[in-house]
Amino acid sequence: MKFIIKCLPVFILGVILFVPSALADNTVKRIGGSTRYDTAVLAAKQSWGEAKTVIITGGTSYADAIAAAPLSYQKNAPLLFTNKDQLSAGTKKGLIDLKTKNVIIVGGTPAVSKNTENQIAKLGISVKRLSGSTRYATAAKVAGEMTRSSTALVVNGFVDADGMAAISYASAKKYPILFTNDSTLNGSTSNAIKSLGIKNTIVIGGTSSISSSLYNKLPNPSRISGKNRYNLSVNLAKKTGLSTGYTFVTNGFKEADTIVGGVLSAKQGRVHLLTNGDSLSKDVRTYIGSKNITSFTVIGSASSLSNNAASQLKNPVVGKTVFIDPGHGYQDSGATGNGLLEKNVNLDIATRLNNQLYGAGALTVMSRKGDTFDSLEERVNKGAKANADIFISVHANANDNSSANGTETYYDKTYQSANSLRLAQNIQPRMVSALGTRDRSVKTAGFYVIKYSKMPSVLLETGFVTSPIDANILKQSTKKDRLAAGITQGVSSYFR
Ligand SMILES: [Zn+2]
Repeated sequence: MKFIIKCLPVFILGVILFVPSALADNTVKRIGGSTRYDTAVLAAKQSWGEAKTVIITGGTSYADAIAAAPLSYQKNAPLLFTNKDQLSAGTKKGLIDLKTKNVIIVGGTPAVSKNTENQIAKLGISVKRLSGSTRYATAAKVAGEMTRSSTALVVNGFVDADGMAAISYASAKKYPILFTNDSTLNGSTSNAIKSLGIKNTIVIGGTSSISSSLYNKLPNPSRISGKNRYNLSVNLAKKTGLSTGYTFVTNGFKEADTIVGGVLSAKQGRVHLLTNGDSLSKDVRTYIGSKNITSFTVIGSASSLSNNAASQLKNPVVGKTVFIDPGHGYQDSGATGNGLLEKNVNLDIATRLNNQLYGAGALTVMSRKGDTFDSLEERVNKGAKANADIFISVHANANDNSSANGTETYYDKTYQSANSLRLAQNIQPRMVSALGTRDRSVKTAGFYVIKYSKMPSVLLETGFVTSPIDANILKQSTKKDRLAAGITQGVSSYFR
C-alpha cells in the first residue's frame, strides 16, 4: 500500500506532463537569468558549452559591447559583462564553467577596472585589453583585430539602438562597426578607415543619427535605416539573408539582453528582431507573418521581454492578418429589435474582437471603425487589399418570430472551402460557449462578402436582435468581451 500511495501522485503527474498536444503552438525558448550578467553567462553556456576565448565588457558600456560583437563572432568567443570595480560573481563562475583560457577586455579602465582585470588573471586566464581613450578609438582598435574587410558599418556611437540592431548583420557580413557622432567624423574613426583600407561604408540609422553631410563625406556610402529601432531590425533582417528557422527576439530598450541576442543570433546564423518588450511591435509581427516564423528564442527575464510578448510569439496567430468586417453601417442599420440596431452591435463586437486579436499577436484590419457605410464589394476589396489571411464578417440575426434565437456561422464553398469550413468550426462552438446561446451550428450560404473574398472567410451571426433572450445577452459588455475572446481563441486554434 505504501508503494501505491507514494507512486500514484508521481504517476498522475507524469501522465499530465506527457499528454501529447495534437495541435502545436509556436515554440518559444527563453534564455533569461536574474541579472544581465547571468543572462549573458546562460546564453554563452547554452550556445558554446565551453569557450577558450571570451570577450568581456563593462555591464553598462554598451558602445564597447556593440563594437566588440562582430569580433566575438570572428573569434567564436561569447560576450560577457562585468561590474566595473569587481568581477561579477556570475561572470566569474561563467568563466570557470566555460573553461576559458583567454579573455579579451574591450573598453578602458573606466568601464572595466584594473582590479577586475587582475581578478580575471587570478583565475589562470591570460588577459588582453583592447581600448582607446574614447568609444571611437576603442571601436577602431577592435576593427584592427578583425579579418580585413573593405566594408565597414558606420554607426552613431551614442545611439545604442542603431548599433545593437546591426550586430547580427555586421557579424554575418564580417564588417567591423566604427563609431561617429551625428555630424563630424572622429579622428580615430577616419584614421581607421584609412589604415584598414575601408572602401565602402554602410551607415546604420537615419539622418538624425548620421547627417547627410557626414554621410556624403564617407567612402562609397549606403544607408540602412528604419522609422524606429524595431523597423530597423526588420530592415536589417531583410538584408542579412540569415535563417528565420528560429528567430531571436529581444526588448529593443534592454541593451544588454539585446546585445547578447545579437551575438547569439550571429553565432547561430539566425535573424534577430528588436521589439517592444510589453507587446510585439507591429513591424516585427509583419515580418514574422511574412516569413511564417514559428520558432523563437527570447533573451532576458520576463522583466525584459514580458510574458505577454512571449505568449504572443507562442500564439500561432502571431503576424497573421485578420480582416474584420462589422456588417452594415450608417444608413443601413441592418436588423433591429429590442432597442438594438444591428450595425451598432456589429461594430461593438468587431472592435472588441480587433483589440483581442491584436493583443494575441495578430495584425488586424477593420472595414469600418465608425458608423460609416461600405458596399459589399468595397468590403471584399478592402480585405483583398489588406492581403488578409482570413476574413471575418460580424453580424447579428433577425426573424419575424421573436422566439427564434441562437448563434450560427456561415461559410461559402466558392473559394477556400475546406479552410473556411475549418475556420467556422473553430469559431462556432467558442461563440456558443462564450454567450451561452443556442447552437445553430455551421452552415453554408452564398453571402456576398464570404462568396467573393478569396481568402478563408466566415460570416458570424452572433445572436438574434429580435429575440428577447439573445438581445439581453448582446447588450452585456462582459458577454461581448467573452465573445471576442472566444472568437480570438477560435482563430488562434485555426492557425495551429
Ligand atoms: Zn447583418
